[in-house]
Amino acid sequence: MSLQRLRTDFQFAVLVACCVIGTLGILPFIVLRIAAHEWAAAAVDASIVAALVLAFVRGWRGGNVTRIGRFVVVVITLACVASSHLLGLSGAFWSFPVLLANFILVRRRDALLASVALISTVVIDGRAFVTVLDRSMYVASASVGCALAYVFALRTDVQREQLQTLASRDPLTGVANRRAMDREMHIAVEAFRRHRMPVGLLVMDLDHFKRINDEFGHEAGDDVLVHFTRVVQSSCRAGDRLFRYGGEEFVLLVPGIDADTLRRLAEVLREAVSVRVRAGTRAVTVSIGGAVLQPDEDSGAWIARADAAMYEPKREGRDRVVV
Ligand code: GH3
Ligand code: MG
Ligand code: MG
Repeated sequence: MSLQRLRTDFQFAVLVACCVIGTLGILPFIVLRIAAHEWAAAAVDASIVAALVLAFVRGWRGGNVTRIGRFVVVVITLACVASSHLLGLSGAFWSFPVLLANFILVRRRDALLASVALISTVVIDGRAFVTVLDRSMYVASASVGCALAYVFALRTDVQREQLQTLASRDPLTGVANRRAMDREMHIAVEAFRRHRMPVGLLVMDLDHFKRINDEFGHEAGDDVLVHFTRVVQSSCRAGDRLFRYGGEEFVLLVPGIDADTLRRLAEVLREAVSVRVRAGTRAVTVSIGGAVLQPDEDSGAWIARADAAMYEPKREGRDRVVV
C-alpha cells in the first residue's frame, strides 16, 4: 500500500526520501562524535535521526504528510542552529542541505520563513565564525542557496500545476475529463455517505452527432462540442461540474439537488441546447438521462443508472429528458 503510494503521491515520496537520506547521512556522525567524546554533538545528531525515523514511521503508517513535513523542517532547522553553535563552522555547513530540504518538504512560504530564521540565528549566534569576512561569506552563500531553492520550488510548483491541469482537462472543450470525473464522483459518494449530502448526475449525449460530422465535417463537429459545453456551463450553477465522458457524451455532477429539481435542470439544459446550439442552420439536440445518488450505491452503479436512463429518450425519438 505505502510502496504503491511512493509512486503516486509526490509529497509522500519526497518525505520518505528526505527521512532516509537524512538518517543515512547523519548516522555515521553519531559514531564519530561518540568516538571523539563530543557528547553534546552526538546527542544533537541522535535527536535528528530519532526525529527522522519517527517522521518516516508516521508517514509510512498513513499520517498527514503536510504536518509531518513541517515537523521535519522544524527539527532539522533547530538541529542545524544547535550544531553550528556547538561545532562552529563545520556545524554551519549543514545549513545548505537543510535549506534545500526545507523547500522540498514544505510550501514555499513556510520554507522561506524557516530558512531566513536559520540563517539569521546562525549569524546572530556567531559561534561559527572567526572573522567578519567568514560571517559575510556565510550570509551571502546561504542567501544565494536559499534564493535558488526558492526559484526551483516555484518552477516545480508551476509545472506540477500545469501537469495536473493537462491530466484532468479535455483538450478540445477545456472541461474536465473522465479521470477528473471518476475522482469527483468518488468524493461525492463519500460526502453522501458521511453527511447525506444529496447529489445528482446527468448523462448528456448529443443526438445524431455522426450525421453532423458527415454533413458539415469533423471540424464543424468539434465546434459544436465546444459550443455545447459553453451553453451547458452558462445554464447551470457555479458549483455544478461538467465533464467530457467520451466522444459526444458529457456528464454534469450536480451537488445538493433532489430528483424533481434535477429533472427541471435537465429540461432547462435540453431546451437551451436545442435553441442555442447550431450545426450550419440545423438545431443540435441532446438526450439526457439523470439519476440522484441512492444510499448504498457506488459511483459505478450510479452512472450506469443515469446512462441507462439516457437510452430511453434515444429509443423514444431523442431530444428528451428521463430522470
Ligand atoms: P445517437 O443519437 O444515437 O447518439 O447517434 P450519434 O451519431 O450521436 O452516436 P454515435 O455513437 O453513432 O456516433 C458518435 C459520433 O461522435 C461518432 C464519432 O465520430 C463522433 N465523435 C466522437 N468524438 C468526436 C470529436 O471529438 N469530434 C468530432 N467532430 N466528432 C466526434
Ligand atoms: Mg454516444
Ligand atoms: Mg450521440
